Amino acid sequence: MSRPIVVVTERGYRRFVGGHPWIYRGDLVSTEGGISSGDIVLVRDGRARNLGFAFFSSSSLIALRMLSREEEPDEAFFKRRIERAVDLRRRLRAERAMERVVYGESDGIPSFIVDRYGDVVVFQTLCGGADRIKEMLVGILRDLLNPRSVVERNDPSVRKLEGLEPVSKLAWGEPVDEVWCREGELDVLVRPLVGQKTGVFLDQQENHEAARAYARGRVLDGFSYQGGFALQVATRAESVLAVESSADALTALRANAARNGVTNVETREANVFDQLTELSRRHERFDMVILDPPAFAKNKEAIAGALRGYKEINLRAMNLLGPGGILLTCSCSYHLTEPLFVDLLREAAADTGRSLQLLERRTQSGITRSCWRCRRATI
Ligand code: SAH
Repeated sequence: MSRPIVVVTERGYRRFVGGHPWIYRGDLVSTEGGISSGDIVLVRDGRARNLGFAFFSSSSLIALRMLSREEEPDEAFFKRRIERAVDLRRRLRAERAMERVVYGESDGIPSFIVDRYGDVVVFQTLCGGADRIKEMLVGILRDLLNPRSVVERNDPSVRKLEGLEPVSKLAWGEPVDEVWCREGELDVLVRPLVGQKTGVFLDQQENHEAARAYARGRVLDGFSYQGGFALQVATRAESVLAVESSADALTALRANAARNGVTNVETREANVFDQLTELSRRHERFDMVILDPPAFAKNKEAIAGALRGYKEINLRAMNLLGPGGILLTCSCSYHLTEPLFVDLLREAAADTGRSLQLLERRTQSGITRSCWRCRRATI
């Protein structure tokens, strides 16, 4: 099959050979063959050596997302890649009611995300190349996963960089507003079309369950969303206060609590920054504080401001803990590395005059290969 050809610089070539899945716009030398954004192209270097096939984007800074060295990226190729991702998870981890099945670049299909909630499959195509072939990808998912419904959840803002419109709709099968899935011993409400991400934060699934071991007395769950942590720890704690700015998320949290017969979780719609200060002012004390904020640093430039934000909430949380209290604190900012995170926690502890003991370090749930989407730590 003849494909448009893109020639890249020596630096672009070295990035690719060194294992990086992307080549940036600055490393393009020339394009030819009536190329358009979303095409699958053949990538060459200045010496006419073929590097492989890639998704091409004319609008994003990420011009090329590498697909394969030699294999022709036809339908059979995408089927093999998805099959490999599904098999890998089946082989390496216990069957879960809900899980991420395809992790984009990590599984060799850039920008293609697939989450499974029971027999409901939710996908995202976050670049032009993946978006162009989404019908074919849905067909493959139907064959391999045998779902009841396939939902397209394409509203992340990164799609704007690719010139793609937001879309959230049923792509195939029965209409689906709500799915109940098991997480550990609890039923969890998933709303694939309106919940955050593709419904729930699957990357915290194992951490929710791990948090139970530390739960006791009075717990504060800051940035609770639908109660991923709050409900798991409620089964062990005396009481849990869940603080969250989204009223809709708290409605779902209460539905989760009711469904599971959990009666010791109080919800409070508030800004966590203000609430931590307010609770401190009232001299309230907690045995455990959980912090799981959204990413404060979405890019490298935002790191300085983000560090201040993370330090501030952690400092305020430490002030609420009694002796022997547990702080379970998370970051999902890719650019906030673990050493930076640990340093800011140490500084916050010093500022509050407390000593911290690091009890456990964890990361996102699931089995990814090369890509680390986020880093998290538990103290
Ligand atoms: N802990 C949750 C996921 C939290 S995601 C779980 O494991 O399921 C971060 C949450 O913080 C989102 O639900 C978002 O609505 C909320 N949020 C963002 N900024 C906030 C703020 N300043 N105060 C309170 N909640 C906030």
